[in-house]
Amino acid sequence: MRIETLRQRLADLGAKPVHVQRMLRAWLHALPLDAGPTRRGPALPKAVALALPALTAELAGLARVRSEHPGEDGSARLLVELADGQTVESVLLPRDGLCVSSQVGCAVGCTFCMTGRDGLLRQLTSAEILAQVVLARARRPVKKVVFMGMGEPAHNMEAVLETIQLLGDEGGIGHKNLVFSTVGDHRVFERLPGLRVKPALALSLHTSRASLRAELLPKAPRIAPDELVELGEAYARATGYPIQYQWTLIEGVNDTPEELDGIVRLLAGKYAIMNMIPYNSVPDLPYRRPDWANEDAATEAPLRFAPRPSSALKETPGRPKFP
Ligand code: SF4
Repeated sequence: MRIETLRQRLADLGAKPVHVQRMLRAWLHALPLDAGPTRRGPALPKAVALALPALTAELAGLARVRSEHPGEDGSARLLVELADGQTVESVLLPRDGLCVSSQVGCAVGCTFCMTGRDGLLRQLTSAEILAQVVLARARRPVKKVVFMGMGEPAHNMEAVLETIQLLGDEGGIGHKNLVFSTVGDHRVFERLPGLRVKPALALSLHTSRASLRAELLPKAPRIAPDELVELGEAYARATGYPIQYQWTLIEGVNDTPEELDGIVRLLAGKYAIMNMIPYNSVPDLPYRRPDWANEDAATEAPLRFAPRPSSALKETPGRPKFP
């Protein structure tokens, strides 16, 4: 179900825009659909009120938690079952964050990622992505939503942008706390700057070498790391949010001194934060987590660095984070 379809169905039942807005806001906060300031607004039309139980059941059926797997750091992985039986993952993150999936499977085929092995199975609709937020909010507060779960958001652009707009408008999430995470795609840099609700941007870099990037991310658009960083920098300066570079650290692949030099070369003077995430080894793939990262294995938190103290990390346009 698309949110636009839901809006139209409610309008066909006689709902005015104010009713639709109120019902969407209630749903996104995991409240009953008729919750809200009824004393300050018109009552729901009778046809809408009569349709509420069926609509509530339909929305609840979009996504259900099949199992929940708590982590040691306060996070929890939710295996979410969609109405057709397909499953995706959502992750409740520490400090009121939530990571959502945007596709079942993924077409980018990163060689170190199990999701990419079977390719893309299907797109999620905007309502299915939002339903993950509703499931999470039924468990704990959500003040930040990152599109970093299964799938490449740029490959499901319209649904993801519809989701971002609704979360920013009615979902109570600050625009900079909506994080569009991508391997890099020219369509991202064309579409995001023109949005009214502009999300922050996370770019999966993983290496400073174009040839290695093409091996690790075989079906990602061929954008060299230098160009990707230049495109990211323009977006960071335009929005006032630093780019969050993602780097999955894999032993002997991208944890070398040469790569460290490459990071400094690419990001010197840039308005950026680097998140280094030690790889989680899986039996079927030939990659390993660096040994030195195992010393910190008690935490799954990314190794985050920007050379200034955190008090300097105010999101001020034009203030570089790298020396
Ligand atoms: S883009 Fe993300 S989900 Fe897709 S294959 Fe790569 S790491 Fe996996």
